[in-house]
Amino acid sequence: MRSRPDLNSYDFILVAFSGGKDSAAVLLDLLEAGVDPRRIELHHHLVDGDGPSFMDWPCTAAYCQAVASAFGIPLFMSYREGGFLREMHRRQAPTAAVVFEDADGGVRRAGGCSKKLGTRLRFPQRTADLSRRYCSSALKIDVMDAVIRNQERFLGCRTLVCTGERAEESPSRSAYAAFEPHRSDTRDGARRRRLVDHYRPVHGWAEQEVWAAMRRHRLVPHVAYQLGWSRVSCMTCVFLSADGWATVRTVFPERFHIIAEREAAFGCTIHRTLTVSDLADRGTPYPAAINSPQLVSQARDAQWRLPILATHGSWCLPPGAFGRGSGPP
Ligand code: SF4
Repeated sequence: MRSRPDLNSYDFILVAFSGGKDSAAVLLDLLEAGVDPRRIELHHHLVDGDGPSFMDWPCTAAYCQAVASAFGIPLFMSYREGGFLREMHRRQAPTAAVVFEDADGGVRRAGGCSKKLGTRLRFPQRTADLSRRYCSSALKIDVMDAVIRNQERFLGCRTLVCTGERAEESPSRSAYAAFEPHRSDTRDGARRRRLVDHYRPVHGWAEQEVWAAMRRHRLVPHVAYQLGWSRVSCMTCVFLSADGWATVRTVFPERFHIIAEREAAFGCTIHRTLTVSDLADRGTPYPAAINSPQLVSQARDAQWRLPILATHGSWCLPPGAFGRGSGPP
């Protein structure tokens, strides 16, 4: 029996929900632990923000909404203005504001006026160092911070932020604590006090356990796994393998060419020494993607058109399960 914090002691339980299997496992674990769904909130950070589809899967937001609806849990969207593209093209400019949905049905905007100017003009680097792999911090971690810091409803309350990192994924993730104060915690501050803990419920889980939880709940995995990707979120994650790039070039050629064109414009590749074309040349497209035009079509669609819960006995492990090489360390 794994130990866990007293989940009933929190006023709010926020799940950082990417639509990937590990964040889904977090949600399912909380429900299996008996947490009232009315006390859970899913928070999805849109990687491409309000900009065009550039890195993310066009269907991800709709998939997240379908999951939230299936379990009767509210979903709040948030993003960095301009998304990945604007952050990547930042030249002597502050990081853009964060836009988020609040609990009253409104949309709010915070930040974006820092005097600290910065320049990117390159893709995030393939490293565990979040200052150089800026996408994870600028588009996800800092966005959740802003969502909490800019809502009065969290002041004077106990909030638990749950994320889906697992130790098995990488040495850097194995070093994360399963439970610690969250970055937005101010319990010992002089003003604007809020207690915010950070809990990683599946930190000690093997991938097998994650898929087993999805099978128990008959939750249909994101289409990325069904096409052969082993990780979600971004379709064109900077950590994508050679096979992944070969697949993107074959079934999402327009996306591939946009990335290749940006690499050429920056004069700086995503991989330290190879262009995405070099990588694609070394890879083999995932058979599941080649053979599933209907799933490719779902991946391109901003609506989720597939069932979200499988019928009894029909849940299948997707081809991307237990694969390697399409996500961050
Ligand atoms: S999935 Fe990859 S590219 Fe997308 S935000 Fe995460 S590390 Fe960056």
